[in-house]
Amino acid sequence: MPAISSDKPYRVGRSRTGLGLFATKPIKKGTKIIRYFGPLLDSKKKKDDAIENKYLFELNKRWTIDGSVRENVARYINHACKPNAESDVKPRKRKVVIRAIKNIEPGDEINYDYGTDYFKAYLKPIGCKCNACEKKRRKKRAEARAERLRLKARQERKALKAEKLAKAGKKTKKRQKLNGVKVAKVNGHVSI
Ligand SMILES: [Zn+2]
Repeated sequence: MPAISSDKPYRVGRSRTGLGLFATKPIKKGTKIIRYFGPLLDSKKKKDDAIENKYLFELNKRWTIDGSVRENVARYINHACKPNAESDVKPRKRKVVIRAIKNIEPGDEINYDYGTDYFKAYLKPIGCKCNACEKKRRKKRAEARAERLRLKARQERKALKAEKLAKAGKKTKKRQKLNGVKVAKVNGHVSI
């Protein structure tokens, strides 16, 4: 039996958000990776215009690719704000090709930017989970943690200072009291 070998440089695999497309071979910057395809929807047709799913790829005002079909493996590619690929749209040919914009190493997840409309509609409400956004979030969390620690340390320093002052105050008062007693005794003695 011949070995099943695929000349495709990608495979579907587990990603942070579910499934994703991963490189299995080095992919050179500028190379076409995969086509994003599916039935063409005509916005002038009511039936077509009524179709709604997450895999609609708008080519222009009139034409949209419905990428929700199973054969369209490119639909597994997740969005990233700093991607390693791009969607190369040819509206006249009604074709979309996903192309590498960086050298991609085997094991790397393949991503492209889904665009502002998709981001606003689907990703912003739940928070984008791409590497760049996760990194930003981690940085913000670390900064917030550092700020909290700084505040805590400052409060502790203040509390310590206040405690010291209070102790010092008590001591002075005690001393004053003692002095007072002494003075009184002395005075008493003297007076006797
Ligand atoms: Zn992001």
